[in-house]
Amino acid sequence: MADKKVALVTGGNKGIGFEIARQLAGAGFRVILTARNPEAGKEAVGRLPAGASFAAMDVSDDGSIAQAARTVGETVDGLHVLVNNAGIYPDQGIDILTVTRDQLAQTFQTNTFGALRVTQEFLPMLKRAEGARVINVSSGYGQLDGLAAGVPSYCLSKLTLNGVTLMLHQALQGAAISVNSMCPGWVRTDMGGANASRSVEEGADTAFWLAAEAPASLSGKFFRDRREISW
Ligand code: NAP
Repeated sequence: MADKKVALVTGGNKGIGFEIARQLAGAGFRVILTARNPEAGKEAVGRLPAGASFAAMDVSDDGSIAQAARTVGETVDGLHVLVNNAGIYPDQGIDILTVTRDQLAQTFQTNTFGALRVTQEFLPMLKRAEGARVINVSSGYGQLDGLAAGVPSYCLSKLTLNGVTLMLHQALQGAAISVNSMCPGWVRTDMGGANASRSVEEGADTAFWLAAEAPASLSGKFFRDRREISW
């Protein structure tokens, strides 16, 4: 097991995050599935191949992130792949004219600051793995021409997450750590709803590719369907 590459996925108990974890485990990664709800997280690990493990992590809580890094660090030296997948989509019934400061702050705490703080906290482990990869699960709603006034906090949080990707890329180039954003498309999950056009397998594919198959030289870019898209 020590020679397996290690991958950590946030918000892995369901939806696209679970499917990314499943695909990575299937490709031979030692997967650490994290979730804020321990029961849901452990139940999800039980549906992965043997060798996967669980660590509790609420990405909106610095204490929880630090505790997860300590727990993972007890059994893991280098972290080869970090997938910042955890996200919320809370904008029902509001728009850019009515969204509150509190709502903006809450969404950013998870979707944007969460991804950044998790990356910062796991950076020593990422640096100990050769050619580590960070994948930020973003959205077409975070593209400059995808911003929607009816989805205010989510769009702004993903737009800024893409900024985080660009700045982490800049800061980690010297450490040979690649950092990319990806958009899964509109996916049938609790967030995407039953009418979405894509399966979780399709939604997870580009994150899997960036983690396991894409050239290591790709960094500081935004992808959908394994192809670069505009910011
Ligand atoms: P989902 O089924 O609602 O799953 C979201 C996951 O994030 C759940 O595991 C959830 O945990 C977790 N999460 C939320 N807040 C968290 C926190 N503070 N700490 C840790 N985990 C937290 O949604 P999904 O569709 O799989 O979305 C996954 C990612 O894809 C998100 O970043 C989303 O923005 C992005 N995305 C989705 C779509 C789509 O159409 N579905 C489109 C574009 C982008 P709980 O179960 O505890 O709530």
